[in-house]
Amino acid sequence: MKFYEYMGYELIEKIKNKELSIPELIESCFHRIEETEQILHSFVALSKEKALEKAKSLDKDLEQGKKIGQLYGLPLANKDLICVKGFPTTCSSKILQDYHPPYNAFVIGKLVEQEGAIHIGNTNMDEFAMGSSTENSCYGPTYNPWEISRVSGGSSGGAGASISSGQTILALGSDTGGSIRCPASFCGVVGLKPTYGRVSRYGLIAFANSLDQIGPITKCVYDSALMLEIMSGKDPLDSTSVDMKVDKYTEELSKPIEKKILGIPKEFFGEGVDNEVESAVRKAIDKLESLGAKTIDVSIPHLEYTVATYYLICMSEASSNLARYDGLRYGNMSDNLSGDVYDVFSRTRGERFGPEVRRRIYLGTYALSAGYYDMFYIKALKVRSLIKNDFVEAFNKCDSIVCPTMPLTAFKVGELIDDPLQMYIADVLTCPVNLAGIPALSIPCGFDSNGLPIGFQIIGDYFDEKGILNIGYQLEQELNIYRKMAPAAKGGK
Ligand code: GLN
Repeated sequence: MKFYEYMGYELIEKIKNKELSIPELIESCFHRIEETEQILHSFVALSKEKALEKAKSLDKDLEQGKKIGQLYGLPLANKDLICVKGFPTTCSSKILQDYHPPYNAFVIGKLVEQEGAIHIGNTNMDEFAMGSSTENSCYGPTYNPWEISRVSGGSSGGAGASISSGQTILALGSDTGGSIRCPASFCGVVGLKPTYGRVSRYGLIAFANSLDQIGPITKCVYDSALMLEIMSGKDPLDSTSVDMKVDKYTEELSKPIEKKILGIPKEFFGEGVDNEVESAVRKAIDKLESLGAKTIDVSIPHLEYTVATYYLICMSEASSNLARYDGLRYGNMSDNLSGDVYDVFSRTRGERFGPEVRRRIYLGTYALSAGYYDMFYIKALKVRSLIKNDFVEAFNKCDSIVCPTMPLTAFKVGELIDDPLQMYIADVLTCPVNLAGIPALSIPCGFDSNGLPIGFQIIGDYFDEKGILNIGYQLEQELNIYRKMAPAAKGGK
């Protein structure tokens, strides 16, 4: 069997038992990348030499009986907006081409420095995490390992494709309106967006800071639970990280779910949800019922306003967060320095930001401008509270909410890129979760008639990652499709 046919926790056991060495694992991982990368384009930069060096040094430490951390040298693909000291971190944007962060993000400190994961490279993404297909990357799209004419989802599309094609075992993503769960759904893997504040954002380059969270993308629920256990917790360098006990997520996975009450929000099965997606999700709900869970109807009445609210808020925050890229404070300056300083700033930004990022900066600046602020931004904040209250009410009646992750399966490369509104609407089932700040997990629950994966979403109450991982794990074991490999992982189309 190939290394990528195993789950992360199984590889850890093999390394502990000396059936596999860490250098062997990392070598085969780069071999796998060489075999598939030309088709998929999941990575924007690789760190082969350093990774192999670290593999050898961990191996030596292990030989000498030293502690090497809980992750035993598992390969980790990092999203191109999470800072790794000295390694190019570009947000897949022309403007950050020369950026080498002077420090590690909190999550890199935890997973790599403390617990012995090996950073193998950075994955492709929509520029500044704005998009649902990874087509907005300055490096070009990442293709879907299940069918390479399709998108991998976004914005963490490189991460999703790298996991589903077996190029790596662990990946990091970020989720502002669905960017972990969308590629997890389209690529048939597991993705978790934690509660806002559960994981430190220190070293995560901001898109919309009141919505952004970092989370894991893996092949199975256990590996995501393990990563989250390590990544969570208070960080004095991120004032929005919360000082709350971190649960032992991995130990809660096998608990029976028979007393759980699952809420089914009717609005999440409404117009626009593909029939095949709905039927696979309903079948998965039947499985959960067969495991003893009860289901009830709940309602999120303001769902119809979430896309408009989300886009107003994320664009407003983006227009402010991205003001620092002027070529002087951050970003590489235009080669043409004619005119005054403002000419150079706007030329730099005009040349170096892609069309989607520019669109969002224009619209966000407009929504925040004097005279329109109350009408757009403040109003969006009010609706955000209504959406949050809908969830609070729903969680008074149920433990978790179950629904589709995306209303559709992976669309064709080029299909929606010229229709931004259609692309935005595809976020309707993921972005309400970010507006409320609650956690959600996406796991594969079946395939459509084209053989494309369908994602099942489990939404939890604040800080109930434990509960959604437990339900996700039980469903994953029951469905037993998580070992199915994408065709690209079998060597081509
Ligand atoms: N698709 C959403 C957007 O374009 C989500 C992005 C994200 O979560 N980073 O804004």
